[in-house]
Amino acid sequence: MFHAARFKLTAWYLIIIMVVSISFSAVIYRVLTMELERFGRIQRYRIEHRLRNDIIIPLDDSLAPPQMLPIDDPELVNYIKHRMLVTLIIVNGSIFVLSGLLAYMLAGRTLKPIADMVDEQNRFISDASHELRTPLTALKATLEVNLRDKNLTAQSAKTVLQDSIEEVNSLQSLTDSLLTLAQYQKPGAAYQFETLDLNALISEAVKRVAPIAREKNVSIQQSAIRGNVTGIRHSLIDVFTILLENAVKYSRKSGTVRIRIQHKDKHTLISVIDRGIGIADKDLPYIFDRFFRADSARTAYERDGYGLGLSIAQQIVTLHHGTIAVISTPASGSMFTVTLP
Ligand code: ADP
Repeated sequence: MFHAARFKLTAWYLIIIMVVSISFSAVIYRVLTMELERFGRIQRYRIEHRLRNDIIIPLDDSLAPPQMLPIDDPELVNYIKHRMLVTLIIVNGSIFVLSGLLAYMLAGRTLKPIADMVDEQNRFISDASHELRTPLTALKATLEVNLRDKNLTAQSAKTVLQDSIEEVNSLQSLTDSLLTLAQYQKPGAAYQFETLDLNALISEAVKRVAPIAREKNVSIQQSAIRGNVTGIRHSLIDVFTILLENAVKYSRKSGTVRIRIQHKDKHTLISVIDRGIGIADKDLPYIFDRFFRADSARTAYERDGYGLGLSIAQQIVTLHHGTIAVISTPASGSMFTVTLP
């Protein structure tokens, strides 16, 4: 598809260039032939004028002064016109070849970002379909098996329904995350940035993760938070919620999660530090990739998460012209740092 589009665009570029070049050549040809004819007429007039006044023109043309050349000679005029035409055809032929090559290169450059975006979208759709298909197939199989079971008691049916609802809830959160991710990947979307109190943003995120922290008896400690950031309120709360949720999720029971704020060179650094399972070096380059989950996370928290949180966080931080980085040691803990301008 990319190649067909590239050839089409090349053809369009070439058509435009050649239309301009040929029109220009036609104008040049027309103007020059008109000038040639006019020059011929003037020459004829001059020669006749001098003959009338008895000025002797040498018989040998080669000895004649340049202004005496018989330029109105139709043969010579046709010869000059022919030469001009040939030259213009050669020039246009060269322009055709050169601009063809240039147009092909230019078309490739123009289409590359579009092709990359289409590839990315296709990958996104296929990843999302794959992630949705697996739990849906499992859910369908469970329901079918139980439906065929003649000895299924009301109590077991209730348990199956309860499990199914949990599965559906989890799928719902997956589709919500996919929608969020798609929303932030939309090119050219306009966002309303405002000045926000950092303390209020972090407090809201802490409030959101408080239930799961309580469940695991993990305490969240934060240093004094001062300062403002510019951005989208709900998006920044989402970023801190994702980081805090991960920190709690991958912490051991009764662990501690710390939030640290630093101000450096007109930037605000917000770090979320945990003493949890950490991330292996081999996994670190991939943890911001869509649907990536480290093996340690998969074994310990099989059904808890789809590997979308950090991708969403990264999209949001990039949108705010910031960066997100991680330092981690397996079995010792991780530190995620968001730097905002
Ligand atoms: P998930 O829903 O799996 O948590 P994320 O995108 O939020 O998805 O995280 C991707 C992966 O990065 C996780 O599966 C986990 O392996 C790793 N990870 C993220 N945060 C932490 C953390 N604080 N400690 C250890 N591993 C983490």
